[in-house]
Amino acid sequence: MFLEIMMLFFGICLVIGQTVVFVLTFVWTLPNTLIGLFTGFFLTFGRPKWKYGCWIFASGKGISKYIKNHALAITFGYVVICWEPKTSKDKRVLVHEKHHVSQYKILGPFFLPIYAFLLILSKGSQGTDHPLERGAYEKMDEYVEGHAVVKKDVLYDVLHAALGFLLAISTLIYLVSFF
Ligand SMILES: [Zn+2]
Repeated sequence: MFLEIMMLFFGICLVIGQTVVFVLTFVWTLPNTLIGLFTGFFLTFGRPKWKYGCWIFASGKGISKYIKNHALAITFGYVVICWEPKTSKDKRVLVHEKHHVSQYKILGPFFLPIYAFLLILSKGSQGTDHPLERGAYEKMDEYVEGHAVVKKDVLYDVLHAALGFLLAISTLIYLVSFF
């Protein structure tokens, strides 16, 4: 009986903690997500589709036609803007942009200043010379047709679970200390 109660307690802690981490990540990424939604809604006259854990705009309208010859897509927080509708079907591009979404989740509001700073160091290159692009291009090269776009990131999941568990446990200890 004791073991069952402990297991249940552990499970509840994990679910609460992961929910808290999810909400915190969402809030931490929100300023950039709002930039993405603003750009998507008002500058490409599009409606986003929620897929692979992000909002994807791909109307090809508005400012898209001025940018599509220079870039395939751009990511702000949880928002991926594809400058041509067909790009949103290209899984290799999506794998690349999904990696940027993960970077936004960690760096939050610091992503854009850090990206800009590193852009100066890489002499304006948005290729593999740029440290934040390197990982995204590696993920793109690793992608094999038919595989899932969102691959399980073991390290991220373990950290997510551990942080969630710590948060839940400390909250519960804090609450219990009142009695
Ligand atoms: Zn990129």
